[in-house]
Amino acid sequence: MEKENIKKRLEEIAGKEWVRDDAATLFLYSRDMTENEPHAPDWVVMPEKPEQVQAVMRLANETLTPVTPYVSGANVGGLTIPVRGGIILDLKRMNRILEINESDMYALLEPGVTFGHLRAELDRNHPKAIYTYPMAPPFTSVTCNALLDGLCNLSHPHGATSDWISSLEVVLPSGELARIGSAAITGRWVSRVPLPDLAGLFIGWQGLTGIVTKIAVQLCPKPAFLKRAFILPYSYSTAYEMMRELSWTRVLDDIAGLSWVAGKMMYGRHGPITRDPGEPGFILFIEYSANTRAELWSKTMIVNSLLKDFEKKGKTFEGPLDINAILRLFPEYTKLANFPTTLDFLLDYAESGGFTWVGSYGPTSNWTRPTEKGAAIMEKYGFPPLFNCRSMKGGHYGALRFLIPFDRRDPEVTKKLRACLEEICDLLLDEGFIPYKAPNWAAKKIISRADPGWVNLLKAVKKTLDPNGILNPGHWGF
Ligand SMILES: Cc1cc2nc3c(=O)[nH]c(=O)nc-3n(C[C@H](O)[C@H](O)[C@H](O)COP(=O)(O)OP(=O)(O)OC[C@H]3O[C@@H](n4cnc5c(N)ncnc54)[C@H](O)[C@@H]3O)c2cc1C
Repeated sequence: MEKENIKKRLEEIAGKEWVRDDAATLFLYSRDMTENEPHAPDWVVMPEKPEQVQAVMRLANETLTPVTPYVSGANVGGLTIPVRGGIILDLKRMNRILEINESDMYALLEPGVTFGHLRAELDRNHPKAIYTYPMAPPFTSVTCNALLDGLCNLSHPHGATSDWISSLEVVLPSGELARIGSAAITGRWVSRVPLPDLAGLFIGWQGLTGIVTKIAVQLCPKPAFLKRAFILPYSYSTAYEMMRELSWTRVLDDIAGLSWVAGKMMYGRHGPITRDPGEPGFILFIEYSANTRAELWSKTMIVNSLLKDFEKKGKTFEGPLDINAILRLFPEYTKLANFPTTLDFLLDYAESGGFTWVGSYGPTSNWTRPTEKGAAIMEKYGFPPLFNCRSMKGGHYGALRFLIPFDRRDPEVTKKLRACLEEICDLLLDEGFIPYKAPNWAAKKIISRADPGWVNLLKAVKKTLDPNGILNPGHWGF
């Protein structure tokens, strides 16, 4: 079908004002903040209802037009770059919070609902309920984060945000609509069990298998008391030993760390940043909550006694430093203590706002070596050794992420950056960590090391759900 005819059909589906193909719009959707090669779409379409998403998918199948679902494009992996052109399906208009169910503790959302929206709605109208928040900006999508196995401030007790999904509604590449989880059987959006877990067909797939039009995510009761503290260990090995042992006390809601250079960046340091001898290596962040003061006190005793044991073992660290007291002195640290947040010190660090990372999940028993080696690789390429980590699901696995703000106008920097990212990605895979939100180049590395049976199954699932290969082609190694 002629391009003009496709445009006309898209306008009939979504309305004339919600279809764009002007150069300025296509430019904006052709790139993200990372080093991944830009590529322009042919059209940007903003549907308002699942039926319009279905109609777009039917048209795409009929005309073999690629479709890339999109909300904010802030995934930090080039995942929404339409590498084969076609339609960007921008779901920002599907931004209704359909239900907050306090008694069954879930929120039913459209994909355009952002962390900022959800937090505001809960704070305003449901102050007894909370969700889990990433360090991602408030304008990013709750749905996308959950589908991408996000790591958030309650990931320590509850796991990645994909574990918070209780039911889904999905438009399949064919245009059919399917419900997943209890919503498919009883119309109630409370759980994925006890059923074959079809949510796995859409989680971690980067939008290659279906377009989620409704998601139910679990909520938690808001605790009455909250305590947050920084601990500043001097060595990476002490930091990780502490993270693991604190995880195992089962009293924490969050335990995460940032390399020391982040503290300097937050205070406006630019250019190469190194750690001065005598400075701590880590900013470790812990948070715990309680229903009563007595419970909070008991948890504080457990944390303090574990830290005393570390002191006795001769491990060097500062703290615990009460964050509320610190925030009164240094309000900049609120960025690390109140979510969702905008880490402007990272996003604005480099001229032109380039920002990228290699993030991964892996065994907490092997956190130290890849951290040391990854930091050394960053320094070798002239980037500040900026990384963060988080204990996930009670310490059963951990996140390790190397972050690089860079000047994306400079091709030499981009070239150096790509080499650095590849080296870090290989290192992480060698050390048992798997990159998440993997850009295509990293996905290829994962696939090249994967069990052939797993690869065949992956390909078979994609082929079955999307025989024409129209959803997000050119991503996840496809
Ligand atoms: C500074 C910074 C810090 C961050 N920190 C964190 C963090 O701490 N933890 C964390 O987990 N993430 C973090 N992120 C990553 C990211 O912002 C989040 O995971 C975010 O929720 C992605 O939302 P988005 O709207 O940008 O998604 P998009 O980039 O628009 O989409 C992400 C992916 O989902 C697909 N997709 C979009 N809509 C749908 C749909 N309806 N159905 C199926 N697939 C769809 C897209 O094609 C793409 O593959 C951070 C990002 C930045 C910039």
